Amino acid sequence: MTRLREAHCHLYQHGRSLGMVQLSDCRGASDVLAAFGVSAESTTDGSPLIGQGIRPDSWDDPRWPSLAAFDEVTGDRPAAAWCFDYHTLLANSSALRAAGLTDASPDPIGGVLGRDAQGKLTGVAYERAALLVWDAIPEPPVERRARLLSAALDDLRTHGYVELHDLKAQPWLPVVLRELEDPMKIGLWPLVKDLAAMAQSAQEWSNDRLGLGGGKIFVDGTLNSRTAAMLSPYADGPAAHPAGMLLMTEADVCSAIEQADALGLPIAAHAIGDRAVRTVLDALERVKPASRGYRIEHAELIDPEDIDRIVRLCDRFGLIVSVQPCHLLADIEALQRAVPDRLGRVLPIRTLIDAGLAPGVDLLFGSDTPIVRPHPEDSIRAAVDRKRPDSAAIAQCEAISETTAWQCFTQMG
Ligand SMILES: [Zn+2]
Repeated sequence: MTRLREAHCHLYQHGRSLGMVQLSDCRGASDVLAAFGVSAESTTDGSPLIGQGIRPDSWDDPRWPSLAAFDEVTGDRPAAAWCFDYHTLLANSSALRAAGLTDASPDPIGGVLGRDAQGKLTGVAYERAALLVWDAIPEPPVERRARLLSAALDDLRTHGYVELHDLKAQPWLPVVLRELEDPMKIGLWPLVKDLAAMAQSAQEWSNDRLGLGGGKIFVDGTLNSRTAAMLSPYADGPAAHPAGMLLMTEADVCSAIEQADALGLPIAAHAIGDRAVRTVLDALERVKPASRGYRIEHAELIDPEDIDRIVRLCDRFGLIVSVQPCHLLADIEALQRAVPDRLGRVLPIRTLIDAGLAPGVDLLFGSDTPIVRPHPEDSIRAAVDRKRPDSAAIAQCEAISETTAWQCFTQMG
């Protein structure tokens, strides 16, 4: 059997998601409310009610449930429903209260609190505002962490994965993983702010299966929330950020690269829009780090002018492009609405390979679970067909063969 590598996942969140209210099949706000209603009745211990997988872009009516309706089904316990991309969240009043948010609260830097025409909170929170709410919701008790991680590892193994990269590893993760002694080979990519401490303790927990990959940064948001940073505006971009938003300036990215490089480690940069991708390339060329293995995560749009540069930086800094074609299957409608003028260059896998990137070496596939399900077949289908059976194809010219697609998932060496 082929030994597969999942190059982009969120292990602990995958474990947690196995027990969440599953909302990906909801066709509208009323389905979301019904799903929470069932969950609220079946768990009466007062624990937070958490759901995931909402995809309003695929609904006929893309409006979220109202705060009043969400409160009615969830009651006094904190409740939150994540949009499938984990960048937007619907909170109930109890969760908003726990986060100290009121109608008078200003938007946090890098985030937006949804408000109605009267300025009252709608419960929908974007980017850093979503994280603000999420951080106030009690986590599962520490003693459950090992069990959740075990469940996640067992689940990923059933899909053929023998290696995985965690692209936002929590500082506590390595010690718990070390004790699990799981046969999975695991590479950890904590946020840059946690990198130095984890590098310092690595000799206590790292071994031939468990290691520190480098630091993770978020250069932009997501396509779904129109916060991925683009070189030209979205067809339906919001007035506040018509071409998305950079969450980090080039100077910020340079400083992150320097911090990691000082530890002899590379950076993995979440960059979905072509402006974010370019920002990372500019920063790499400016800093000229000594470490290798830099990564661009997602890269849904790359400006044609940057393709050759990426190939050059592959040679020079061991740059890796890590993509999740499975996102394409879910994003087709959002792409058609957001970037109808540049659909032909979405996820340019074939262009990257033709330019010189080696599948499985410089070009890796992953799923980004739990943002989408971890089945590798989804990414294979997306890379080969560029469509769902019921949809139009996106950039058919970027299709690759099934053999090449599996190579992008295959563990080398
Ligand atoms: Zn991710």
